Amino acid sequence: MTDENDLSGAPAKRAPKPSPTSIGNHQLSAQTLMMGFGFDPSLSEGSLKPPIFLTSTFVFESAAHGKRFFEGITGKRPGGAEGLVYSRFNGPNQEILEGRLRLWEEAEEALTFSSGMSAIATLLLTYCKPGDVIVHSGPLYAATETLIAKILGKFGVSWFDFPSGATREEIDAVVAKAKEKGRVALIYLESPANPTNALVDVEAVAAARDAAFSGGDKPPIAIDNTFLGPLWARPLAQGADISVYSLTKYAGGHSDLVAGGLVGSKKWLDPIRMMRNTIGTICDPNTAWMLLRSLETLELRMTRAGENAVKVCEYLRGHDKVESVGYLGFLEPGSRQADIYNRHCSGAGSTFSLYLKGGEREAFAFLDALTIAHLAVSLGGTETLASAPAAMTHLSVPDERKQALGITDNLVRISIGVENADDLIADFENALNAV
Ligand SMILES: *Cc1c(COP(=O)(O)O)cnc(C)c1O
Repeated sequence: MTDENDLSGAPAKRAPKPSPTSIGNHQLSAQTLMMGFGFDPSLSEGSLKPPIFLTSTFVFESAAHGKRFFEGITGKRPGGAEGLVYSRFNGPNQEILEGRLRLWEEAEEALTFSSGMSAIATLLLTYCKPGDVIVHSGPLYAATETLIAKILGKFGVSWFDFPSGATREEIDAVVAKAKEKGRVALIYLESPANPTNALVDVEAVAAARDAAFSGGDKPPIAIDNTFLGPLWARPLAQGADISVYSLTKYAGGHSDLVAGGLVGSKKWLDPIRMMRNTIGTICDPNTAWMLLRSLETLELRMTRAGENAVKVCEYLRGHDKVESVGYLGFLEPGSRQADIYNRHCSGAGSTFSLYLKGGEREAFAFLDALTIAHLAVSLGGTETLASAPAAMTHLSVPDERKQALGITDNLVRISIGVENADDLIADFENALNAV
C-alpha cells in the first residue's frame, strides 16, 4: 500500500541551501550574517538581494505537497510548515527576516508582526484565557497597559504589577498575591521602563518564577526589549523566554516603517505562530524587505547612536539650565540599578530623559528652538527626536501616577540618532539658550 504522504518520489521542496555560520572553528557574528544569511540567490535568478515576493498565495508541486504543508500549518503534524502556502501564514521575505532576527539573541526562532503592538497582542491572546492573571513590571508602554488592563480585562483576565526596579522579595510578594487570584498565565516585563529608564532585574524575576511554579505550571517570561535590544541587552541570556520588539524603533531604525517581532525558543513561539496564522498579524513582505536592509546596518547605527548619546549627555549634565539627565550611563556606582545594568546591559542606549530647570514653559521653549532634532514621538531612528511626555505620550496618565513615575512638566524625552555629535551639541546649546 502506498502512503499518500510519502513524497519521496515528488520533487523536493526548493529550500534555500543552508548558509554557513562558521569558517572552520571561527563562529561568524550576527553583524556579518545580516548581509546574506538565509537567502539563496539561486532560487531568485541569481539576484544578490532577495526580491520582494508580492503574492497572496503559493503554488503546490502536487496535491500531496499541499496536504502535507497544511498538516504542518494546522499543527496536525509537528514540525511546522515545510513549504510556503498562503501569505497570511508566511512568505520568503518574512522567513529570511525571522532567520536573521533570531541570530542577535542566539535564539531558536523569531516571528515578525505588522507592529510591535500586534506582536504583543498575539502573544497575550496565545497565553491568556478567562480567569488568568498576568504579572507585569510597571510602568509599561501605554498601549500595552491598555491592552492588559482594559481589553483583556473585558475577557476576565486580571493583572498584578511590581515596580520595574523591584527586588526579589518584592517580586515574590506580587507573584504570591497573583497565584491566590488565579492561574498565572504570563510574566510580562519591560526594561528599561519608559520614561523612567528603570531596569528590571530579569535574573531575579526568573528565580522568583522558578521558585513559585513547577513543571507545566511555569508561566513564560516575556520582556519588551525595544529600548536596548538586540545590541545592548539580550534578556534571553538572563532567563527570559520571549524577547519582544517594536521593530519600528532601533531595528527598523529609519522611522519609515511599523513592525514587531518576538524572539525565543520554538517551544514558546510555536503556539504564537498558530495564533498569528489564525488572526493574520504577520509582517507584510515589503516591510520585511525593508527590515532586512535595516538589519545590515543595525550594529553600525546603534553603535554610533550610543556613542553620540554619551557625548550629548555629558554636555547636557553640565549645563546650568539642566536639573538632571536620566541616562543609563550615569547610574550611581554601587546602586541596585547599576548592579542590574552591569549584569544585563552592554551599553546605555541612546534614549534618555532630560529634566530642565522649570516646568512646561521651559520644556516647550527648548523643544520649539531645536533645529536638527525633530519634535516627534518615537525613538531609535537615524535622526534625533525630542518630545514632552507629560504633554504628549503620557497626557492621559492620571496626575498622581505621573508624579510617581517622574513624568513631570519639565521632562523632555530624547532619542539620539547617528548625526555628527558636535552638531547635536550645538543644536542643544542653542535650544538651551532660548529657554
Ligand atoms: C513603540 C513601542 C511599542 C509599540 O510598537 P509599535 O511598533 O508602535 O506597535 C511597544 N513597546 C515599546 C517599548 C515601544 O517603544
